[in-house]
Amino acid sequence: MSARDTRRGAERVNGVRGMNDVLPADEPLWQRFEDAVADTMRAYGYRRIRTPIVEHTRLFVRGIGEVTDIVEKEMYSFVDQLNGEHLTLRPENTAGVVRAVIEHNLLYDGPQRLWYAGPMFRHERPQKGRYRQFHQVGAEALGFSGPDADAEVILMCQRLWEALGITGVRLEINSLGQSDERRAHREALIAYFEANRERLDADATRRLHSNPLRILDTKNPAMQSLVEAAPRLADFLGDESRAHFERLQQLLRAQNLPFRINPRLVRGLDYYNLSVFEWIADVGGTPLTICGGGRYDPLIAMLGGKDAPACGFALGVERVLDLLREQEEGASAARCDVYVVHHGDATLEAALGAAERLRDAGLDVILHCGGGSFKSQFRRADASGAQFALILGVDELARDEASLKWLRASPAAGDGAADRAAAGAARQESVPLARVVDRVLDAIAEH
Ligand code: ATP
Ligand code: MG
Repeated sequence: MSARDTRRGAERVNGVRGMNDVLPADEPLWQRFEDAVADTMRAYGYRRIRTPIVEHTRLFVRGIGEVTDIVEKEMYSFVDQLNGEHLTLRPENTAGVVRAVIEHNLLYDGPQRLWYAGPMFRHERPQKGRYRQFHQVGAEALGFSGPDADAEVILMCQRLWEALGITGVRLEINSLGQSDERRAHREALIAYFEANRERLDADATRRLHSNPLRILDTKNPAMQSLVEAAPRLADFLGDESRAHFERLQQLLRAQNLPFRINPRLVRGLDYYNLSVFEWIADVGGTPLTICGGGRYDPLIAMLGGKDAPACGFALGVERVLDLLREQEEGASAARCDVYVVHHGDATLEAALGAAERLRDAGLDVILHCGGGSFKSQFRRADASGAQFALILGVDELARDEASLKWLRASPAAGDGAADRAAAGAARQESVPLARVVDRVLDAIAEH
């Protein structure tokens, strides 16, 4: 680059539309969420699995179904220029998990409880709560025919909402029965929609013969009354399917978990059977599905494995975090325990050493870097969210001392200036250098 280019500024390269950075200010919320997920999964005996972000395109075409939103129009698929392989950025992780389970023969050791978390990719129109790179957390109970496992994965979600302090999430459930039951229903559906052909939109017309069940899932307001009156799958279920669904409902009731049966809940993917469910919350005033799941007994065999039942769920992390933010009105700022300020000759050595010893004691410490007046350093200390400032000046050091300053009120006290003063926010005291760590630990315990 020539000097001239540098002066003018080089062209800026921005991120890809619909793919977001998670900036440090948001990290505490993500971390809290991820910790709650890991704790919840552990509490139910689920073990984490990590599969690659890129898989063969045919895995998703087969595993998700050709006539689905995802496979029809949302996949990031490409041909690897170097070897001609047809690859796709994963739009979801169930197919990948099942592939890995088959490939490594994990079900040989009996049923498996697995969970995953990570980025997924779908080429959708970006808007609030809908991105091209987004994150999902999911759990898969493989080798269990239920409905005990179905109840368990639903209860796990409920426990996660509780752990996160999220309220107002509603559970909807339905049964999709088995494929032969769906076939009879499908005939009835096609006949019904054909009789009302003029009221179908383009998507529905296209799906009329390929996947009429999905028409029930339409988001088009103009078609709501039509789908409302369509033949119900529930009326086509056989005794076994009915019993499975009934038992699931009993189990949920026994745990006092409220739910609503939504006969139009069909889920977007082809592989589901029997129980399906969604958790719905109002985000920014509109109802949005934050988590969806159900049973997918045919999938493992469809992907070449030995026939085995399975169920699970996937939740949209961004949507859950939006909900958390809304319900908390701003997540708490990042906090550290101590911000170390220092000013004057040879104070940096002492400050570095004190910061290291505080970290040895398990504390989170920010050491002021880049010099500047005490005043400007205190501004940074305040902004850091630290509870305490440790001050090392030439005068203090000459006495082998440091000063400890209380930067904020104890969490029990209010946030007003009067409360802060009352709770000792303005307090400052001298501490012998050798006693700094103990004094800070005591002060934190008092706080
Ligand atoms: P929708 O009907 O909203 O398109 P979906 O049926 O495609 O959802 P699933 O495939 O079931 O969604 O994915 C599970 C969850 O992942 C959704 O409930 C949602 O919370 C989240 N999710 C799906 N697509 C996106 C996206 N593009 N951006 C952000 N979150 C998403
Ligand atoms: Mg979708």
